[in-house]
Amino acid sequence: MSVLHNLLQGECNPDLRLLSCSIMAPKCEEGKIIKPCRNVCEALRKNCLPAFDAIDMAWPYFLDCDRFFVDEVEGCFDPLAKLRVKPEFKYIGNMHGNEVVGKELLIYLAQYLCSEYLLGNSRIQTLINNTRIHLLPSMNPDGYELAAEEGAGYNGWTNGRQTAQNLDLNRNFPDLTSEVYRIARIRGARTDHLPIPQSYWWGKVAPETKAVMKWIKSIPFVLSASLHGGDLVVSYPYDYSVHPLEEKMFSPTPDEKMFKLLSKAYANAHPGISDKSEMRCGGNFVRRGGIINGAEWYSFTGGSKKRRFTRPLMEPPFKSNNLNWLGMADFNYLHTNCFEITVELGCEKFPLADELYSLWHQNKEPLLKFMEMVHRGIKGVVSDRFGNPIKNARISVKGIRHDILTAADGDYWRLLPPGTYIVSAQARGYSKVLKKVTLPAKMSKAGRVDFVLRPLNGKFPQIIRDSAGKANEQYDPLEHFDPHARHAQPEPRGDGRRSVQPREKPWWWSYFSSLNQHKPLWLLKYQ
Ligand SMILES: [Zn+2]
Repeated sequence: MSVLHNLLQGECNPDLRLLSCSIMAPKCEEGKIIKPCRNVCEALRKNCLPAFDAIDMAWPYFLDCDRFFVDEVEGCFDPLAKLRVKPEFKYIGNMHGNEVVGKELLIYLAQYLCSEYLLGNSRIQTLINNTRIHLLPSMNPDGYELAAEEGAGYNGWTNGRQTAQNLDLNRNFPDLTSEVYRIARIRGARTDHLPIPQSYWWGKVAPETKAVMKWIKSIPFVLSASLHGGDLVVSYPYDYSVHPLEEKMFSPTPDEKMFKLLSKAYANAHPGISDKSEMRCGGNFVRRGGIINGAEWYSFTGGSKKRRFTRPLMEPPFKSNNLNWLGMADFNYLHTNCFEITVELGCEKFPLADELYSLWHQNKEPLLKFMEMVHRGIKGVVSDRFGNPIKNARISVKGIRHDILTAADGDYWRLLPPGTYIVSAQARGYSKVLKKVTLPAKMSKAGRVDFVLRPLNGKFPQIIRDSAGKANEQYDPLEHFDPHARHAQPEPRGDGRRSVQPREKPWWWSYFSSLNQHKPLWLLKYQ
């Protein structure tokens, strides 16, 4: 395996090693041997073959999927289960009860995902197999009922926006944004995972808000979008202006670059939002590419002041008697690991039913593209040297003052745009570990960066690097490996030697022939 490791330069390697181990040491349960599953082997072989092909090597006989692996009906286990950390994704629709398009889209989306999965659509299968997708079609069913009574075409601009308790759910979350502005100037102050201020609970918190907050806190969501209506634009945090008295003030988060990338993923795939005509619905966002920072659009504390980017009475401006209450997107970002954007799906909040089909067609691709964005950046597991996961370890990126915490299984997902980063992991009682990571411009899979932390004791300094070499460790090429991309764009081979003289011994053969042992002819693809 170590020779394979070198030859494949790490591609598929942890998977291959685990697969080999599972044959040599199968699982035992109640005195019965349980073998690894054949479908796991077959899927890995399919993924790894391009890497083997690239060095003209055959799939190793000791990993013969038919010989050493068994069918699910015989009872088997997935030896790669440990490697399959999946990000959690959510869509929330109909937070404002009279903005109904999101609700319908999410129902269509659920049907589409299920039927395409069964039909064998490989894009959908890849998405579902690698992502935990949560859909909440309606966050405000009471408001919807009210708006639906009036019906499409008759519903006014605001009826049903609020809940039965007359609360605007997007102004009902704790205000952590003014807290982050306050402490941002304090050196070393934590500006993420802020606690909910006690005073928040003294106000009127809607049961819908409580339920969603509980949900957000119980699942380590990575990415989310809230679907609204009344305009055609994608907005991203902060929604609350950095200057409390100044509306329409650009108020970026430390993750501004990533939020722009996320918003563009939706906007660029949407034929309406990406339309360059200023005359269209939402046309005043054309010069910004159909995306805008929420606070710059209209700050959430704004009273009834005019808004530069919206027509009058689009989204009603925020009226709050209680500055403790703000929107859901800022809360996601400042209280949890989750990045949330807000999508305004169209200028009509309650369109006629026969418009829904074309709305679905406009939004299908953006909805899928945005979900796929959850696989950007880096992912991994933080554990101690015995492999025990470390929960709540901090994943920090130098230059971005916003940390991500590991979940219960020690896994984390850190959304990042392409670039080179110094990433560190630290947890209470353990030393800090730094790694240098480079994310290429084109990637369809989050790069895997695991951390092993050593417990602190008298001998260890506060900050150690895992080793001189590893501190500078490059991004794991395995994680860039995308079999589909390889098939689509094979790397050009200038000399064309491989196709002209396939029977020539490949370059790596000298490793084995010089060993003066049995030459492993079975490794040769062309004998
Ligand atoms: Zn809304």
